[in-house]
Amino acid sequence: MNSEIKPKPLAEAVLHALGRSQNPFLICHIDPDGDALGSLLGLGLALRKMGKNPTLVSPDGVPAIYDFLPGQEFLAKVPAVSRVTHEDLIVVLDSSDLKRISSYYDATLFASRPVANIDHHATNTLFGNINYVDTSAGACAEIVCNLLDGMHEEINPEIATCLLTGIFTDTLGFRTTSTTPQMLQLAARLVQHGAPLAGIAEKIDQRRSLVAIRLWTKILETLQLDGKIAWAQCDLAMRRSIGASEDESSGVLRTLTSVAEASVFALFTERSPGRIDVSLRSRPGYNVSKVAFRLGGGGHPQAAGCSLEGEMATIVPRVLSELRIVANNTPSPQGNMA
Ligand code: 5GP
Ligand code: MN
Repeated sequence: MNSEIKPKPLAEAVLHALGRSQNPFLICHIDPDGDALGSLLGLGLALRKMGKNPTLVSPDGVPAIYDFLPGQEFLAKVPAVSRVTHEDLIVVLDSSDLKRISSYYDATLFASRPVANIDHHATNTLFGNINYVDTSAGACAEIVCNLLDGMHEEINPEIATCLLTGIFTDTLGFRTTSTTPQMLQLAARLVQHGAPLAGIAEKIDQRRSLVAIRLWTKILETLQLDGKIAWAQCDLAMRRSIGASEDESSGVLRTLTSVAEASVFALFTERSPGRIDVSLRSRPGYNVSKVAFRLGGGGHPQAAGCSLEGEMATIVPRVLSELRIVANNTPSPQGNMA
C-alpha cells in the first residue's frame, strides 16, 4: 500500500486545469458522506459562480440527513457515463481509488480527458493525471477550501455551508485528532462567511428517522466483544423487517465506538445478497486502514472500510482474524485522522 507516500500538494496543477476547463465533470464516491457531498457541491457552486458549467454527479444521490445541503438542485438528474460528451476535465473528489465511483469509471472516457484526483486518504492510489492528495487534511473539503483560496474565489454562505459540513462530518464534530488549530481557524472563517455551525451539527448528529433508531437497537443486540474488538452486524432481513434503507445503519457506529472495553470496532452490513460492507473504526494509535486496504478497500487510520463478496458467516471471522493483529498491537503513540 502507499500510505507512506506523502505527495506534495499539487494545488497549482489542479488550479491550472480548473482554470482552463469550461465544462468540468465532478464526481464524489458511492455511499456518500458529508465530506464527499460537501466537497462536490462546494466546488460545484464555486465553479458555477465563476461562470463555468460543471456537471455534478453523486452516484448514490443524497442521503436524507444531507438534504439541507445547498446546490443539490444542480446534481445531474439521470447521470450516466454515456452522457459525458462535452466535459473537458474529470474531477474525482474524496475517493481513494476508482472503485469508489463504481460504474462511472470508464477506461475509454478516463483516457480521453485529464483526470484530477482531489483527496485526503492515505490509501489513495494516485489514479489521476493530476493528484492533489493531502493526507494531512482532515477532510477533502479542507483541500477544496485551499483551491477556492487559490482561485481568489469569495466563499458565499452556500459554499461555506457545504465545506463546513464536510469538515464537521469527517472530524466527527471537531473531535478527531485531525482537528488542528488550522482546521479550527478554517472552520471559523466558514462560519464568518455564513455557514450555520449549530444548524449543521444538529442536522448531522441529532436528526435520525425513527426507523433508523429502531434499526440501531436491533444491530446493537448483535454486539459482541472479541478481545479489544467490538463488532456488530446488520443483515438484510433485519432491515426489511422494519423497512429501513441501507444508509440508515451507519449512524449506529457512534454508539458502537463508545464501548470502553474496545479499541477496534467493526460493523458488518449486508448490502445485498452475497455482498457485505465492512465499516472499521479504531481509537487513536490503532490503524485499521491497512486491514481495509489489504481487503480491497481503503480509508484513514481511524476510519476505513471495504466491501466483500460472500456470506456474513465467512466474512465476519475472516475480518476479525485480521483485526486481532491490529487490536493486539501496542498502540502507537500518535494516532491521526478519523
Ligand atoms: P464508512 O465506514 O463510513 O463507510 O467509511 C469509512 C472510511 O473508509 C471512509 O473514509 C471511506 O472513504 C473509506 N471506505 C469505506 N468503504 C470503502 C471501500 O469499499 N473502498 C475504499 N477505498 N474506501 C472505503
Ligand atoms: Mn473525506
